[in-house]
Amino acid sequence: MAESTELQARETIHAGGEWRAATSGATREILDPADALPFAVVAEGDEKDTDLAIAAARRAFDEGPWPQTPVAERAALLRRVAGLLVRDREKLGRLEAQDAGKTVEEGRVDIDCVADAFRYFADLVAGEAPGRVVDAGSTDIHSVVVHEPIGVCAMITPWNYPLLQASWKIAPALAAGNTFVIKPSEITPMTTIALIELLVEAGLPEGVANIVTGPGHSVGARLSEHPDVDLVSFTGGLISGTKVAQAAAPTVKKVALELGGKNPNVVFADACATEEGFDTAVDQALNAAFIHSGQVCSAGARLIIEESVRDRFVTELARRAEKIRLGRGTEDGVECGPLVSEQQRAKVEMYVESALKEGAVLRSGGKRPEPSAQRPENGYFYEPTVLDHCHREMRVVREEVFGPVLTVETFRTEDEAVALANDTEYGLAGGVWTTDAGRARRVAGRLRHGTVWINDFHPYLPQAEWGGFGKSGVGRELGPAGLAEYRETKHVYQNLAPKPVRWFAG
Ligand code: NAD
Repeated sequence: MAESTELQARETIHAGGEWRAATSGATREILDPADALPFAVVAEGDEKDTDLAIAAARRAFDEGPWPQTPVAERAALLRRVAGLLVRDREKLGRLEAQDAGKTVEEGRVDIDCVADAFRYFADLVAGEAPGRVVDAGSTDIHSVVVHEPIGVCAMITPWNYPLLQASWKIAPALAAGNTFVIKPSEITPMTTIALIELLVEAGLPEGVANIVTGPGHSVGARLSEHPDVDLVSFTGGLISGTKVAQAAAPTVKKVALELGGKNPNVVFADACATEEGFDTAVDQALNAAFIHSGQVCSAGARLIIEESVRDRFVTELARRAEKIRLGRGTEDGVECGPLVSEQQRAKVEMYVESALKEGAVLRSGGKRPEPSAQRPENGYFYEPTVLDHCHREMRVVREEVFGPVLTVETFRTEDEAVALANDTEYGLAGGVWTTDAGRARRVAGRLRHGTVWINDFHPYLPQAEWGGFGKSGVGRELGPAGLAEYRETKHVYQNLAPKPVRWFAG
C-alpha cells in the first residue's frame, strides 16, 4: 500500500491479499481529536466490500494452508509479528496517540501490550498437548478430545484501545488456525490497518487476514449476519453489542461480546489510615477514573467510599484532578488527551448536566478547558470532573458515561459497600481498598464483576481471562479461555475391535 503524505485516500480494505479502495469509491477523513483536523483518508467500505472479504477468508480457511499449518509454525509467525511490533513501536504508538487522542506514552504502552498478546498466545499454543485422551473404560477404544479452528471469524472493535482490542482477537484466532475479517471503529482504523500490513510482512498466507474499514451499520451488521462467518467477536457498547447478537442469531454463529462497564472503586477508611495509604488510594482513584480521559471500559467511574473519610478524600481528589494537564498527546508534559470526538464530548456534557440537575455537587471540572498552546481550540477537551453526593437513582451513576467523570457515593458498613458495588447492570471490573486482608478477600468474593483488584486498579495480565458478568458481555478474552473462544471441540472415538451390537435382531 502506498504511503500518503498529502491526504490522498489510502486503499485500506484488504481482501484475499490485495489492498483496495471501497467498491463504491467512498472515503472517510480520519480526524485528530486534539484539533479536529483530518490527518488521513481511508476507504469507506460497505456490504459489498464485506462480502468480498468474507469470501476471501472463507476460501483461505476451506482451501488454504493456514488451518493445517503446524502449531509450531503458527506460533513462530505470531512471535515474528511481536518482533515487528517492537520494531515499529514508536511509529505505531504515535499513530495510536493521534488517532485515539492518547498521550504518546499511553500509545507506546498499548503497543507493548499488543506485542505481549501475540507472544502469550504463541507460547500458549506451542506448549499445548495435541489432544486429551479420555478413558473409555476399554482397551479396545481409543477416545481423544481435540480442538480445531472454528473457521471464519468476524471481529468488530471500538475506538478507545483500537489496536489492543484487535490484538486480543487476532492473536488467539491466528494461534488457533482461523482466518478472519476485522472491522475497526470507523473513527480510529489506522493502527489496525498497520497491523494487517505487519501480518502480511510476517508471512501470513493470502486471505487469512482481511480488513474492511467502514461503519457499523453496514460493515459491522453484514459481518454479524453473514452465513459464511462462523464466529463474531465484538467489543464495544451495549446497544451495538445487542444488535450484533440479534443479527447473528438466525445463523447460529458463535458470539462473543465484550461490552461496557460501570465499575466501582470501593475505598474503606482503614486504607486511608496512614499518610502513605491515603496518598496511594487517592492517586489510584485518580488513575482509575481519568486515565485516557475515562474512555476505558474498566474505568473506576464510581468511587464508593466509607463515609468517615469522604470529605478529606474527595477534597484531595478534586484538588489533584484540577491539576491534570490536558492537551495534545504528543506535547511534552501533557498527562491526558482529548475525548475522541465531538459526539463523545456532547454525551459527557449531557451526563454532567443531568447529574447536576439531579442534585450532584460539582467538586472539580464540569466544563471545557480554556484553549492553550498545548490545547487547540477545536480539540475535544473536557476537564476531569468529580461529582460528589451522588446516589444510585442518578443516570450518571447507572449508565456508562465513558468520559472523565467520577461520581462519589458513600457507605457505612461492608454489606452496604458490597450492595452498592453490585448495584449495576454491568459487571466488568471493580477495585477494593483496605488493609484488612480478611475483608479484602470477603468483598472480592462477593463482587459480581469479571475482574476484581485488591489495593490496585487497572492492571490486567494476558495470562488471565478478561470479561464481564451481567451486561458487560458474553465470553472471555485473554488466558486459556480467550483461546478456547476461537476453537471447536471435537471428540474422536475410535473402536479398535468393532463387532456387531445386535440392537436389531434382523
Ligand atoms: P460502539 O458500540 O459504538 O462501536 C463499537 C464497534 O461496533 C465499532 O466498530 C462500530 O462501528 C461497530 N458497530 C456499531 N453499530 C454496529 C452494528 N449495528 N452492528 C455491528 N457493528 C456495529 O462502541 P464504541 O463507542 O466504539 O466503544 C466504546 C464502548 O466499548 C464502551 O461501551 C466500552 O465500555 C466498550 N469497550 C469494552 C471493552 C471490554 O473489554 N469489555 C473494551 C473496550 C471498549
